[in-house]
Amino acid sequence: MKPFFNKTKVIATVGPAINTKEKLLEMVQAGTDVFRLNFSHGSHEEHKKVIQFIRELNKEHNLNICILQDLQGPKIRLGEVASDQEFLKPGKKVTITTQPVKSTAKKISTTYKAFINDVKPDDPILIDDGKIELKVLEVKDKEVVAEVIYGGQLKSKKGINLPSTNISSPSLTEKDTKDLMFGLEEEVDWIALSFVRSPIDVLLLKHIIKQQGKETKVIAKVEKPEAIEQIDAIIEASDAIMVARGDLGVEVKIEEVPLIQKLIAQKCRHAGKPVVVATQMLESMIDNPRPTRAETNDIANAVMDGADTLMLSGETAVGKYPIETVRTMNETIRIMEQKSESIYHKKEVLHRKSPTYYNDSIIAAACVLAQDTHAKGIVGMTQSGYTAFQVARFRPKANIFIFTANRKLLNRLSLVWGVRAFYYDKFTSTDDTFDEVLNLLQTKGHLNKGDICINLASMPIAKRQRTNTIKMSQI
Ligand code: PEP
Repeated sequence: MKPFFNKTKVIATVGPAINTKEKLLEMVQAGTDVFRLNFSHGSHEEHKKVIQFIRELNKEHNLNICILQDLQGPKIRLGEVASDQEFLKPGKKVTITTQPVKSTAKKISTTYKAFINDVKPDDPILIDDGKIELKVLEVKDKEVVAEVIYGGQLKSKKGINLPSTNISSPSLTEKDTKDLMFGLEEEVDWIALSFVRSPIDVLLLKHIIKQQGKETKVIAKVEKPEAIEQIDAIIEASDAIMVARGDLGVEVKIEEVPLIQKLIAQKCRHAGKPVVVATQMLESMIDNPRPTRAETNDIANAVMDGADTLMLSGETAVGKYPIETVRTMNETIRIMEQKSESIYHKKEVLHRKSPTYYNDSIIAAACVLAQDTHAKGIVGMTQSGYTAFQVARFRPKANIFIFTANRKLLNRLSLVWGVRAFYYDKFTSTDDTFDEVLNLLQTKGHLNKGDICINLASMPIAKRQRTNTIKMSQI
């Protein structure tokens, strides 16, 4: 189905540009691994239809395309704007209200009900990705008066960021809770939580998921300065991290984002947790069939930073060239992975006190062995997914083939660097299993006669414990 396989995965956001079954299939053929359903937009019926299409494509074409539900979180927005002639002028005063009035150059309305309680004098208010900047002058009973620092045209429903304000709204809003229940019911593979400020936000979401009897994995979207301050604890609480550069670039100094991206990518790899780099990777391709030089460099740098997955947003949701965009991203990734050795063979300090120290050591040794022998593949068996996340952490150049009897994992692992997952449920004897999985990989064309392969397993195999065995074979 996919004519190639890159290690770095690609997420495409679904929107009107690709929400038919035919277009989704074309997107997969162009190299999409994960579809993101952005719950800032669209109805449950619309999302349900897309979920059905993706599930059907998985069945019909034997694919493991993953579904990521992205919860909106406490996104603050402008209300409706009265006309397309509403311009804010620098130096002028403007009133902000939470009343649902149409916004004008004199009075603008926000959807965030606690706005007046949260802001204080001198706080900056950034509208539409920071294109417009206001400064709070006075907080009144029912309104806020602000001065326009940088003006511009007001547009309905544009985002508002309050980088210096403590937002009182919880990370999981009422809308998010309803969307979450829908996502869990539909068995989405990953859930992304927006505007995470502390590990508690993530733990709370995980608690609800568990209460609902599900084990859906959680991605914390890092886009607030508070999240950077607690990044270690947030990585520990989460199953993956998204560097959500859109809001992050407005909430912190934009010049700090490149270093934050590098730092988070490094920390996530140390922790064995996937990291997604998101937003404006190919923004110009919303309107043009070719990328800018800077965008191509950005993709290449994200690959070198160690991103597991790169994300496309407006480019695929509403862009004119969604297929070309995914192709362009994959081609840049392919060339980087082919020509840059520094992506591979990462060393990790393993912690003796960790309860998984011995298993992690076995996996580390398998990756070194694969490097030394120029092995074509590392084969892991897993029930929880642990082995897959751990092997990926060492960034082996060998292919990572993961076998599991846990069907839910098959799609979920599509977000993880390098991993290709296969269903396998016969765990009788280790020798039989090793032979069978290697035969299977040969039949599918992933391995050829003479190839070296490193098998990982847990013995006795029927007990399905953590990895404790390495075997090297030549096909
Ligand atoms: C971002 O801000 O970069 C992001 C991915 O969030 P969203 O697109 O949901 O606003």
